[in-house]
Amino acid sequence: MKISPEIEKLIPYSPGKPISEVQREYKLDHVIKLASNEAPYAPSPKVIKALKMALPQLNRYPDSQSHKLTQTFSKHYGVLPENLIFGNGSNELIDLLIRVFCVPGQCILTSQAAFIAYKICAQTVRVQTIETPMAHMCFDLEAIKAELQKRREQPVRLVFIANPNNPTGTYLNEEQITDFLNFMKSHPETLVVIDEAYTEFVRAPDYPNSLDLFRRDSYASQLVVLKTLSKVYGLAGLRLGALIGSPQWVNYIHRVRNPFNVNHLAQVAGVAAIQDSDYVHQHCQVIWQGLDYLYGELDSLSCRYPLKYLKSQTNFILLDFGREAYPIHKRLLKRGLILRPVAGYGLPNCLRLTVGLPHENQQAVETLKEVLSEEAPCPPHPS
Ligand SMILES: *Cc1c(COP(=O)(O)O)cnc(C)c1O
Repeated sequence: MKISPEIEKLIPYSPGKPISEVQREYKLDHVIKLASNEAPYAPSPKVIKALKMALPQLNRYPDSQSHKLTQTFSKHYGVLPENLIFGNGSNELIDLLIRVFCVPGQCILTSQAAFIAYKICAQTVRVQTIETPMAHMCFDLEAIKAELQKRREQPVRLVFIANPNNPTGTYLNEEQITDFLNFMKSHPETLVVIDEAYTEFVRAPDYPNSLDLFRRDSYASQLVVLKTLSKVYGLAGLRLGALIGSPQWVNYIHRVRNPFNVNHLAQVAGVAAIQDSDYVHQHCQVIWQGLDYLYGELDSLSCRYPLKYLKSQTNFILLDFGREAYPIHKRLLKRGLILRPVAGYGLPNCLRLTVGLPHENQQAVETLKEVLSEEAPCPPHPS
């Protein structure tokens, strides 16, 4: 049987290396993983308690409508229940969006170095991904606009904007986003998907509240917002994501999704997690302190070594070594530090470092220092 060229050529998503694998491969006891933008500690005790109580109910199928989850999130986000649909992580919602809104041969539009799931999901269903260049490691909405104008003949169905973006950690401000949404009114056949996996970690005061924008009538029919419980809620292992969109679009996605795509435990945990603002608050404090500590250490490293980094609005930092980073990644692994190579995003000189607990951040800095100092020191980047 012949497999289609799209599937034949598909490069699968490469997750961060598991700790156990690095321990085995390098014969190490102590390994730190700062590779997958996960929370550095357990989920909320309220979530764990709710999960334990739900275990005896697992003989039953989950509620296909996710009724309680929908009601709870609707209150939390200030949108109607009809505006909401859930998925097995927001990754599944990305997949569903593309399957619902694009037919083979059509295209989606995003930036270079955008979250890679968009491209992977598109390729599986023979949908082309068009990528515009970044500007200063940020999504360049002007380039995206120009591309949309150019493609009036072969319309783009979905524009994916990760705000803030993974793996760069950079963000678009309110003025940029509202200007773009206004522009999109002249492209009514195209939906704008804003993927907000890291919103709670953002400290920039001009970051837009996309749910406020969604609640404005004039944007509601073209704007789709994605949320996930994987990052600030510390539930990456559970798989729960939410989509906010206009009822007509949500309805089409309901038709296509698997009837039990959100399992019972995910529904129960989601209800408990979204109401626990203390957990979110505390988690953000840990991340912000970690970021500030790391900025300080990276600043002093960058005086001695060719190392640059981007200020981040997320729980990770993109490190730029000014030369191929894969050998550096291997040497970090040998010392028990797992970071994430991002060559697949067109960033072969970079590694992504997730903020961990204070002792993990310190260990990461020590290990980076060791590896960088092994090489003949060269002059730092011209800034
Ligand atoms: C982590 C991440 C997601 C979330 O993925 P899940 O499938 O919900 O775990 C979505 N978008 C971006 C940009 C991310 O970094």
